[in-house]
Amino acid sequence: MEEMEALRVTACTRCPDLVECRSRIVNGTGPDDADVVFVGEGPGAQEDSEGEPFVGRSGSVLDDALRTVGIDREAVRITNCVRCRPPENRDPTGMELENCREYLEREIELLDPEVIVTLGKVPSEHLLDRSVAVTKEAGSVEDVRIDGTLRRVLICVHPAATLYDRSQETTFEQALERAADLADLDETSGGQTRLDGF
Ligand code: SF4
Repeated sequence: MEEMEALRVTACTRCPDLVECRSRIVNGTGPDDADVVFVGEGPGAQEDSEGEPFVGRSGSVLDDALRTVGIDREAVRITNCVRCRPPENRDPTGMELENCREYLEREIELLDPEVIVTLGKVPSEHLLDRSVAVTKEAGSVEDVRIDGTLRRVLICVHPAATLYDRSQETTFEQALERAADLADLDETSGGQTRLDGF
């Protein structure tokens, strides 16, 4: 845990627009030995206000879906491609993604997770380094080299997609089920188990 604490970004001014917009830097949350790491795009208004990723409306959807498939949120790591809120909730620019990539790579290296779940188009394309049709490709898995190490990446829709299109709920939950299977969360692994009854 000390190592992860040391990786917390507390002062960074690489992205002038985001520095202007943010209230704080939003670091990842969750145990430093998590087998599953969820990677979103960046903090929204609520996350910026509370200093935690996925605590707004999208966070509620993520929590509900995790509960449905039996994954304990406390057992997974949740982080973002950029740690500061983009103005007017725009997508982070390519430069901002690259500026922040070092922090994400260090976090992934320390976690050494079984699977990385990309929540939406921006993190999927950023980590896979190609164009991704998220709705079509959700649930598919690709091995990709991140900072020199081969990592298993599972593409997933953004939780908010299920708010606008209810048919995405099943897609979303099936992707989370697959993540749990890939990480063997139903088997005890360093205390990481799926919730009872699933
Ligand atoms: S988004 Fe990342 S790189 Fe950019 S200012 Fe925030 S912490 Fe620094």
